[in-house]
Parts: sequence; structure tokens; C-alpha cells
Amino acid sequence: MGFAELFGYQPTGVWSAPGRVNLIGEHTDYNEGFVFPFAINRRTFAAIALRDDNLVRVSSSFSPVIHETDVTNITKTDDNDWAAYPFGVAWSIQQLSKVTATGFDCYIESDVPVGAGLSSSAAIECAVSSALNDLWNAGLDRRALARAGQMGENEIVGAPTGIMDQSASLLGETDHGVFLDCRSLEAKPIALGFAEAGLELLIIDTKVAHRLVDGGYAARRAACEAGAAVMGVTSLRELSTDDLTKAKELLDDVTFRRVRHVVTENQRVLDTIDTLANQGPRAIGELMHASHVSLRDDFEVSVDELDTAVETAMRHGAIGARMTGGGFGGAAIALTPVELISEVTLSVMAEFEALGYAKPDIFAVSPAPGAIREI
Ligand code: ADP
Ligand code: MG
Repeated sequence: MGFAELFGYQPTGVWSAPGRVNLIGEHTDYNEGFVFPFAINRRTFAAIALRDDNLVRVSSSFSPVIHETDVTNITKTDDNDWAAYPFGVAWSIQQLSKVTATGFDCYIESDVPVGAGLSSSAAIECAVSSALNDLWNAGLDRRALARAGQMGENEIVGAPTGIMDQSASLLGETDHGVFLDCRSLEAKPIALGFAEAGLELLIIDTKVAHRLVDGGYAARRAACEAGAAVMGVTSLRELSTDDLTKAKELLDDVTFRRVRHVVTENQRVLDTIDTLANQGPRAIGELMHASHVSLRDDFEVSVDELDTAVETAMRHGAIGARMTGGGFGGAAIALTPVELISEVTLSVMAEFEALGYAKPDIFAVSPAPGAIREI
């Protein structure tokens, strides 16, 4: 069922926005550090038409239920419904632009996998916010729309997330990554050269639900804050690898390792940007793998399934591999020469089966353009 069948008339237009994957820079965002995601060739499409009244109706191919709200009175809902994502950006665009909003009808379809760490939520937010920005003439630029997505997710969905996902979904370009400084919020497209080098990025979704994610995530954030306080800085971003000797003297072992992950990971993001420019994409594999080792041993957010995915992919020809996302489950990524995609895929499948793990979902993604109006 599409927009026309559901609402009985044609939409004004269709806007789309991609999911994203984080190439490198993990657990650095809330430490005001660097991240380097790219928008992927999996997208969410939003068909939308404005209404003459204040009613907002949204529906999705996931379920025929129509969710409604009043555009002038959007508040946080407690039922964690997906409709909070479109409602959230409808609210935040009004906050950021002071536009006089009217109601709208919206129907969503998506091929961004949900719960694989590819930010299906940001894809919804950015498709809908791009549509409303155009239809309401709100005049927000892409950076403001990224902020709108984050505000909606923080205030209306109630998830305390950063701005990385929306920045990638809005600022992505074909075969480019988005280098984001989480302190200045400056975002820069960086050529990846994967296509020319014959490389693809495999997503290995372990299907392991984010075990312990609540407690574990909060504890990591607390350790970072504690480490920064002892080191006398407002965020770990202020520290460089030269400060690690002093950090080792001042911090307990666990806090030191958490800090060392963040500090070295920030450096690895900068090194990745540098390596891409000077040596090309085949040279970034070591940095990706070093990121995984640091997340596994120092930050301790990996799980056996992610470690197995990474090591098996590397053994069978991946140039670099690492867990991606917050950890405690979720997906790994493996930068892989095109001719070895099936070998890596089959090997990881076989290894998971041999170890009695759940069957992983493995597919390639490529760096794709950010949000656009389709028709
Ligand atoms: P991620 O963004 O990593 O995929 P989140 O938990 O942030 O994971 O967001 C996933 C949620 O987004 C789903 O639980 C669902 O509520 C919502 N969602 C994603 N895609 C769709 C869709 N096409 N239709 C309806 N809801 C969706
Ligand atoms: Mg999300």
C-alpha cells in the first residue's frame, strides 16, 4: 500500500535520505572528538503532501496503522512509537525556523535495515525534515536540518543521541565520507576512492541484540567524564597521544584504558583522512583493525561474535575490519576487494555456523548521496 491508496490522493512529492555506516571514530562523538561516517546506498523514502489544517498523519510500509498528531502541539510520547521520528522533526523545524507550520500526510518506505546500526532512524528523520523544509519554506540549510533531526530525537523520541547520523544522511556524497568534528560541528566531505580501488564495504550484522547496552554505555560515558576531570580538561578531545604517559600515572587502570581508546581513536580518524589523501583507500585497513583492537581491549565494548567476524574477514582477504556502532552486539564492517566479497562472506558464514552463533546478515554497501527530493 502506498500514499495514494492510504490517503486517497496523490502526494506533492517524494524525498529520500540514506542510512549511514561509521567507517572509523567510535565512542568519540560524546567526547567532542572526530567521526568519519558515510551515507550508504540504502534509503528511506517519504511521500508527503501538506494539508489545509493542523492534522499530521504518518504511516509506513512496516504497518498500516496511521499515527496522528496536531502539528502545533507535538510533545514527547511515552510509547516509543516510530512515529516520534517524523513528529520529532516536524516539531524541531518549527523551533529552529519559526515557520508557520501546517499539517501534512506522510507515507514511508525504506530499505535501510532496522537495528543493524545503520541508522534507519536518521534516514526517516532526514527524509521527512528535507520534505518539510521544502514544503514549509523553512529555509534551513543541511547543517540546520541535521540539528533538527538530533533535536527531534533528543526531545520527542527521548534518545540522547549525537549529530553524527543526521550529518552523514544529509551531507553524504557518492564515494565520499563525511569527516565530522563533534566539537565545532564542522563537517567536510572526503573522497574515499573505494570504487576506483575496487573496494566495497561489507556489513556483517551479527544479529546479536545490543546486550547490556544501557548500563554499559552509561558506564563508558561516565569513565570518559571521570578521566577528563582528573586530567583537568572539559572533554577528552583536549588530550593528545602525548598526554597518555601522564594519564597512566594519574588514572586507575580501567579509566586509563577508556581514555586511551578515545585519545588514540581520535588520532586514528585524523590518520585515516591523511592516509586516504596520501596513500589511497587500500592503506587504511591497519587503522580500521587498530580501532577494533582498541574497542575490544581498552574500551571493552566488543563481543565474541564481533571479534569472530573481524578476524575471519581479515583472514580471508579483508583489508581492514572493525566493529562499528556502540558495541555489545550489532554489526562489524570489512573493507574488502570486490573479487574477495564472496570468499569473505562465505567464510564468516561458515565460521559463525561452526561456533554455533546465529546466522549473520552480510551485504555490501557503497558511499551514496545524502538526502534529496526524488520527484
Ligand atoms: P537504527 O537507527 O540504528 O536503525 P534505532 O533504534 O535508532 O536503530 O531506530 C530504529 C527504529 O526506527 C525502529 O525501531 C523503528 O521504530 C524505526 N524505523 C526505522 N525504519 C522504519 C520504517 N521504515 N518504518 C517505521 N519505523 C521505522
Ligand atoms: Mg538510530
